[in-house]
Amino acid sequence: MRGLSDYHVHTSRCGHAGGESRDFVLKAIDRGLAEVGLTDHIPLYFLPVAERDPKLAMKEEEFDGYIEEVLELRDEFRGKIAVRLGLEADYREGHEEELACWLARADWDLVLGSVHWVAGGWIDAPGSAARFETEGTENLYDEYYRLLSKAARTGFFDVLTHFDLPKKFGYRPPSPRVTAEGEAIAAAKEGGCAVEISSAGLRKPVGEIYPEARLLEEIVAARIPVTFSSDAHAPAEVGWGYEKTVALARRCGVREFVTFESRRKIFHALPEPN
Ligand SMILES: [Zn+2]
Ligand SMILES: [Zn+2]
Repeated sequence: MRGLSDYHVHTSRCGHAGGESRDFVLKAIDRGLAEVGLTDHIPLYFLPVAERDPKLAMKEEEFDGYIEEVLELRDEFRGKIAVRLGLEADYREGHEEELACWLARADWDLVLGSVHWVAGGWIDAPGSAARFETEGTENLYDEYYRLLSKAARTGFFDVLTHFDLPKKFGYRPPSPRVTAEGEAIAAAKEGGCAVEISSAGLRKPVGEIYPEARLLEEIVAARIPVTFSSDAHAPAEVGWGYEKTVALARRCGVREFVTFESRRKIFHALPEPN
């Protein structure tokens, strides 16, 4: 998709992605993207050291090397594609000061805000699906959106990721949790956050883009900016599924998207279909 960007891309450091970081950038060029934001998982700062699973996020000692590598790629590919220095940062309630320290360690182009930890555990890890049976789908959705709302208002994050993540395994409440969702949309607006439109959900059991059309329409109506992303964990996934992503965006009224440089928003018209 010519002229678009992919603003959610991982590297092998996180322990569950494969390939050379350089190949993620090359794939972005190959797809005709104008920008790629490398946004690997922040170390699991909010868990006790013994519980920091190296298969879920980079280790603390890899953090500076990650930043260095992205800055090198930015220089190497200057003039071919804009490589942005980003981070996917988990929000965990009560650990805001530690997060602030981590974010202070680089001059980021963009920081993604993700809620993966809900009510004492992962909501999206392999094995999390059972929680929807035992803890109740409505409870988990409500708690997720409460945390997402809180995250949006912290000022730490430029973009909220996979907005309706609890649907990942296909568990849905009998009817939409409109109060909790509405609160999260209002919080995104107030917190100045953009929301990503992510093809990643198409590769998950739910088989649906994040966020679903109904929510995206509300996000657009609230005049909240959007980014495009794949949440790539392999080079082949960069810019993956964009035909569907862009078609959904257009149907839901998206006319522009946003990119970031040093955490400053830059607006672009959505390219016309070719
Ligand atoms: Zn990941
Ligand atoms: Zn995520």
